[in-house]
Amino acid sequence: MMQRRSFIKKTSAAGIAMALVPGITLNQEMEYSIVELMGKTNIELYGEGINLRKKAHDAFLSMKRAAYSDGIDLKIVSSFRSFQRQEIIFERKFITYTEDDEMEPLAAIDKIIEYSTIPGTSRHHWGTDIDVIDGYPKTNGDVLVPEKFESGGPFENFKKWMDENSVIYDFHLVYTDNPKRRGFKYEPWHYSYAPISKPMLEAFRSKNIAQLLQLEEFYGAEHFTIGFLKNYIQNNILDINRNLL
Ligand SMILES: [Zn+2]
Repeated sequence: MMQRRSFIKKTSAAGIAMALVPGITLNQEMEYSIVELMGKTNIELYGEGINLRKKAHDAFLSMKRAAYSDGIDLKIVSSFRSFQRQEIIFERKFITYTEDDEMEPLAAIDKIIEYSTIPGTSRHHWGTDIDVIDGYPKTNGDVLVPEKFESGGPFENFKKWMDENSVIYDFHLVYTDNPKRRGFKYEPWHYSYAPISKPMLEAFRSKNIAQLLQLEEFYGAEHFTIGFLKNYIQNNILDINRNLL
């Protein structure tokens, strides 16, 4: 009898030790690589027209089903975006502002970063963030316009629904309308899946991003100073909804 008891004790101790192993593995997986954080490598994405990491995809589908039963058709306008894609957007804007509009390079960059990120620093590189609207209302022109989400706008009901429900599914607005917030302007369409994007932001912060960006060779990057980049990281990357920090 005594022998058997001690055997059971040993087994359960071993069971606890075994149970710790998946935790250790999980922590290792949480160490995101720099190419992953900067959108420079392919990651596994799920769902046609969704393109998110598995857990974010699953949470989005649950949220989409719930919204649908309340008469809202959650429609993703943009989700994962690679470094190369962001580079095309940035360079096109830089050329338009400096050549067509004859702006000074630094003024052009300041204008770009009102709404667009410097390649390598977009949350859309992570497979956790979405630009989302309601697919039901008929609208003209650009959809990602703050006024369209306000009272009387086509996405008024969508915004109300998301305000009440998105956090249930762990999706949080990133660029809020808090007047004290600096960095990117208010984006009522941009949501982030916190359980993955929070550790990714933490990993991102642990890297010397300013130094890495100075080594980039895309058009306009030659004007980045270390001071500008440090301000950009402080304001545009870190001055966001505190639920995501
Ligand atoms: Zn976005």
